[in-house]
Amino acid sequence: MKADTITKSARKLSRSFRVTNGKKFRLQDFDPGNTLGFTDEDKPKAKKALAAGVKALADLQDKLYAQDQWAVLLIFQAMDAAGKDGAIKHVMSGINPQGCEVHSFKAPTSEELDHDYLWRCSKRVPERGRIGIFNRSYYEETLVVRVHPQILGKQKLPQKLLTKNIWDERHQDIRAFERYLNRNGVIVRKFFLHVSKEEQKNRFLERIDQREKNWKFSTTDSHERKYWDDYQSAYEEMIRATATQESPWYVIPADHKWFTRTVVAAAVIDALHSLDLAYPKVGKDQLAELAAAKAELLAE
Ligand code: ATP
Ligand code: MG
Repeated sequence: MKADTITKSARKLSRSFRVTNGKKFRLQDFDPGNTLGFTDEDKPKAKKALAAGVKALADLQDKLYAQDQWAVLLIFQAMDAAGKDGAIKHVMSGINPQGCEVHSFKAPTSEELDHDYLWRCSKRVPERGRIGIFNRSYYEETLVVRVHPQILGKQKLPQKLLTKNIWDERHQDIRAFERYLNRNGVIVRKFFLHVSKEEQKNRFLERIDQREKNWKFSTTDSHERKYWDDYQSAYEEMIRATATQESPWYVIPADHKWFTRTVVAAAVIDALHSLDLAYPKVGKDQLAELAAAKAELLAE
C-alpha cells in the first residue's frame, strides 16, 4: 500500500471515533462492538492493514526523531481487560525503541502523594522528538478517585479545597495542562478503549480458566466491576469536559481486539501526519563539510 493511501484511510477510519467537542458526547452513542461493518472474515485484511500502518508509523517516527521539535503524548485509559497493553504492544511494535517510552501509572506511592497529582505525570512527558505513552494517567484522578472518594482522603489535600466542585476543577486543570503542553509542541492524543461489560466478563473468565493468563487476573479487577455504572458515568463526564480540538479523545470500540488495534494505529498515524514532519534540511556549509569528509575518506 502506498504511503498516501495509508494516510488517507487512517484519517477516515480514526476520525469516525474522534471526539473534539464533548458538549454533545454521550457514551451510549458509541457501541463497543462496532467494527464499521467489517466481520471476522475481514480479520486477515485488517491484520495486513495494521502491518502496513505499523510500517508507516515507523517512517513517521523516524522523521519525528530526526526533526527533534515536536513530542507526542499518547494516553490510554480503559476498564480492566479492555486491551490497553495489547494495543500498546501491537501498535508500537515496529517503532524504534530509542524514540519511545511507556509509563504505567498505578496507585500513587507515598512520595507521589506528597505532591500535586500532576507531578508524577509531568516528569514523564516525552522529550522533543519522542513518543511517550501513558498506560493510565492523571485521568485516574477523575475516574478511580471519583468512584472511590475515600481515596481523596489519602491525598493530604487541605480540607478547604475538598468541595463539591473538585471534579470540575480537576477537569479544568487537566484541560489547561494539555493546552500548555500543546503550546509547547507536545501534542496529546487520548484513547478510551471502550469494552462492553459482557466482553469484560468473557475476558476475566478466560484469565481464570487459562493457566498462562492467570497472572493477568486479580480479584480487585472483579471487585471494580461492581462499580461499572459509576465508572461509565465518570468516563462520560471526563470525555465531555476534556475533549478538545487540540487534544481529542478517541472512543475506540474494544470488543474486537483486531479492530481496536487497527483504529489506534490509524489515529497515531493521523496525529503524526498532521505535524508535517520532514527530515532537517542540510545547508550549503554542511554540504561542503560532507563533501570534504568524503574526499578525506576516499583519499585514505
Ligand atoms: P493490567 O492490565 O496489567 O491489570 P493495570 O493498568 O490495570 O494493568 P494494575 O496494577 O492492575 O495495572 O492497576 C493499576 C491500578 O492503579 C488501577 O486499579 C488504577 O485504578 C490504580 N490507579 C492508577 N492511578 C491512580 C491514582 N491516581 N489513584 C488511585 N489509584 C490509581
Ligand atoms: Mg489491572
